[in-house]
Amino acid sequence: MALTWNQLEQVAAELDGTCQELHTLLAKLGIVADPEAVEDQLLSVNMERCRGCGWWMDSCELVGDDIDSVTGYCDQCRPAAERACMGFGGDVDEDWD
Ligand SMILES: [Zn+2]
Repeated sequence: MALTWNQLEQVAAELDGTCQELHTLLAKLGIVADPEAVEDQLLSVNMERCRGCGWWMDSCELVGDDIDSVTGYCDQCRPAAERACMGFGGDVDEDWD
């Protein structure tokens, strides 16, 4: 069952800047819905969860300035995620050519 617009806004507002579990919040608000479906709906209001630290935030904060940078991670988690993606353990921040 999809959330109504009002429910979606309420859920997004509650999640913003927190790391709470979606199913816990839905239970707290008395909303009966599939957390995975709700997560999809949250994308439509730009509410997304960092894959690194699990904090909910605006989708635009999970995208790097660089078009090639990994997405889905916040500013704090992205450097580590990028290193992991590139298979380096060392310093790959600088790219002097
Ligand atoms: Zn993060």
